[in-house]
Amino acid sequence: MDLFEHEARDLFARHGIPVPPGEVATTPAGAYAAAVAIGGPVVVKAQVKTGGRGKAGGVKLAGTPAEARAAAEAILGMDIKGHTVHKVLVTAASAIADEYYFSFLLDRANRTWLAMASAEGGTDIEEVAATRPEALVRQPVLTFDLATAKDIAVAAGLPESAADVLVRLWEVFVREDCTLVEVNPLVRTESGEIVALDGKITLDDSAAFRHAERPVDTAAGDPLERAAHAKGLNYVKLTGDVGVIGNGAGLVMSTLDVVAQAGGVGPANFLDIGGGASAQVMADGLEIILGDADVKSVFVNVFGGITACDAVADGILQALGMLGDRATKPLVVRLDGNNVKRGREILVEAGHPLVTMVETMDDAARTAARLAARGA
Ligand code: GDP
Ligand code: MN
Repeated sequence: MDLFEHEARDLFARHGIPVPPGEVATTPAGAYAAAVAIGGPVVVKAQVKTGGRGKAGGVKLAGTPAEARAAAEAILGMDIKGHTVHKVLVTAASAIADEYYFSFLLDRANRTWLAMASAEGGTDIEEVAATRPEALVRQPVLTFDLATAKDIAVAAGLPESAADVLVRLWEVFVREDCTLVEVNPLVRTESGEIVALDGKITLDDSAAFRHAERPVDTAAGDPLERAAHAKGLNYVKLTGDVGVIGNGAGLVMSTLDVVAQAGGVGPANFLDIGGGASAQVMADGLEIILGDADVKSVFVNVFGGITACDAVADGILQALGMLGDRATKPLVVRLDGNNVKRGREILVEAGHPLVTMVETMDDAARTAARLAARGA
């Protein structure tokens, strides 16, 4: 899960990384009060989980509380790359001498962590990386001590005095179970202090159980993903129009592949209802998928194991019964495995108008893609 900047800076502060004093506000009056409390010039910053806020007009300097109020008025409600701004962070403005870039991230392809540093921080690091890769130092790291930090700082053109902050960022990365910690810009102020002026953190959701104490604002996450997780379902929203339900992560991933191969817009989601799926779990899963306006057809792909196909077939029919009018999209069902014959018979006998039975995965994927195209 991505954090808001203000949540990232709270974690930074907890690990002793210098950040400017700041307060979150949700109204222009709140921004005015925050500016009064902070004193002196402030920066009013849109809190959205996307980058490029500065370029979009979501970061404004304000010399007085009245200017901070006007800046908040302009920024609150703004749309930045599809994200509506509901809150701003008001921070004391820093006098910047130099802007650097620094990050730790999980490098999945190379099965390592990566430290990245550049003396050319600020808003355009992607362009630096693309046009002058030599200006961005990338170093695989497994541990990160002060000596390593100094080496990387010097290699990238950061002051050696930044090394202590880099080690603390590593502490955040490891202790808080992050897959990304990015500071852009990390600045040297005119008085020589190293300060994190922006922060982007992605937490490893698989480690969330280790951080039950952590108060995070999940409001900006995908609402379907939130609803699914609340029901204990393993659901990931994707970009296509064929809803996918299966039992077992491997089967569901293969199902995504065959749906992608069948042409059309591709799978709309990943949803693993697990082994031993009951009618209730099937109904919960179908409800999530049918609640997705992008879904035009649903591919239910179940391999009967401990839960035999006849139980799964009953579960599908019961789920459709529970959903009633909310079941509106065609279902393509492929059953195989334990007691498949009886399972198919049950569905054929029921003759539910929304259900099409298909024997193989490839045929089912093609049928689902065709039905989705028709429904689009
Ligand atoms: P982003 O555009 O979403 O990455 O937002 P940032 O928080 O990184 O801010 C964008 C830019 O605004 C920074 O690179 C700075 O140049 C500028 N900026 C942000 N905070 C301050 C500040 O306290 N003082 C000054 N002078 N500039 C700032
Ligand atoms: Mn930034």
